[in-house]
Amino acid sequence: MNKSITNFAALIFFSIPFLVNCQHDDHIGYKGEVFWSAKNKHAHLLYNRAVSSQSHITWGTGNHTSSPVPLGAVGPEKYVNQLKGIIDNTEVGKVTQQAIRDGVNVILMIGDGMGFNHMSLPIYMRIAEHNSEKTYFEKIMDVGASGVVLTNTINGVVTCSATAASSISAGYKNWMEIVSVDTNGYPVETSLELAEKLGYVTGLVTDAGITDGTPAAFYAHTYNRNLENEIAEQLIGHNIEVVFGGGVAKFIPKGTKLKDFAYYKNSSYINEMFSEREDEKNLLTGFEANGYKIISNKNDLMNLDSSTDKVLGLFNGGGISAAVDRDTEITGEPSLVDMTTKALELLDRKDKNFFVMIEAGRIDWEAHDNDAGAIYKAVEEMNNMLGVCYDFQKAHPNTLLIFTADHETGGLGIAYTKVSEENLFKKKLSSGDLWHSDTDPLFFEQFKKLKSQKSSIYKIFGEAKSEEQLFEMLNNNSDYKITREDAQIIFDVLHGYKKAK
Ligand SMILES: [Zn+2]
Repeated sequence: MNKSITNFAALIFFSIPFLVNCQHDDHIGYKGEVFWSAKNKHAHLLYNRAVSSQSHITWGTGNHTSSPVPLGAVGPEKYVNQLKGIIDNTEVGKVTQQAIRDGVNVILMIGDGMGFNHMSLPIYMRIAEHNSEKTYFEKIMDVGASGVVLTNTINGVVTCSATAASSISAGYKNWMEIVSVDTNGYPVETSLELAEKLGYVTGLVTDAGITDGTPAAFYAHTYNRNLENEIAEQLIGHNIEVVFGGGVAKFIPKGTKLKDFAYYKNSSYINEMFSEREDEKNLLTGFEANGYKIISNKNDLMNLDSSTDKVLGLFNGGGISAAVDRDTEITGEPSLVDMTTKALELLDRKDKNFFVMIEAGRIDWEAHDNDAGAIYKAVEEMNNMLGVCYDFQKAHPNTLLIFTADHETGGLGIAYTKVSEENLFKKKLSSGDLWHSDTDPLFFEQFKKLKSQKSSIYKIFGEAKSEEQLFEMLNNNSDYKITREDAQIIFDVLHGYKKAK
């Protein structure tokens, strides 16, 4: 493995002089086209190369990787003890189901695409800021289990969200794209379904679409995660008390807009969105007939009575806005913390146990876009949600709280860089020795700039109409600055992609 990395590094090294000559910029260069599935990814790569001398951020890919993922758990020891060390992702499903059979509440949080490096961003940030208050990732791992989870499929090294979430929910490993069915195509029982069968109240919370791979693997059964119209219909067949997320476009009839439905009349940010169904079915009426209260914005969520029995809150046609972009005042969307807090309030009932799966799905999306600043904000939000859940767990000890991820996305890394002889770092020590180094470790002052990003790169790339606008938008929204020449190169790639499309 080391050898191939060395070869790869050599390849990059020898490619750079050529690209530098072409582009007259030290910071720009392709890493290897073979890693990028769509042409527009080059623009993200070029942006990252442009800021790499300041941020030291490196990306292996725009796809998922095999990197094992973190797990932390607190709660009754019997279950926590089984989640230590290097474990397979099916163990999470098996242990969760065991806890449910034993009458224990379960809060399962999945950071989609969250590898160790993603999780470490707010940890390094608090160290950079001399903040001794640990993150909830650390607190939970300190007092409970810390696990390293293997995410492979049944026959391959790298997984997708649906397959990994099926392992985590049903304890059953399978091929790519599979949603909680066995290798013969028959349904396997998920943790949520087991909980329902045993009289638990249940909940699903996500900032992605509720029919996306991760949440789907808890209630739907199909050989292909892309059959989201069908997956949406399978949600009605259940009696999940709390359903919060995005993706309502899959629930309204073909050709209609959200504003055609009374529940969405006041949600002006999203109500021009069109249906993504391929038939005339209106699933919202199905939920209403089953006794669900239907809500569409943060106000509705905050005003929900805690005695509400069943609620469907889908706050966007697709995924809920990224943490870095979200402005509740404008969009009316709740944050993951809002949804998590309300979900626990509604699920905590005197006479019943509960199971809830909470997904921080945008970590994966930002990582597919190689947008480290947006990932920082998304992981920070997950940390805040963990705080809400950890406080709940401490007050309700018969609760097993697990956080983990389905896989790593992007091969995110932070690497040191070398400086030239004349720029050596030097310091005269009290001992009389002269310390020196030619290695820039990414000084904390530079790292802290990661926090300053105010908009996702995706959004800026979508909105910039000229090189000048791109230059201004990128530099106004991040403390890692690019040059006009960088902006020109990035814009040309973006523009070329749009034209080709
Ligand atoms: Zn995923």
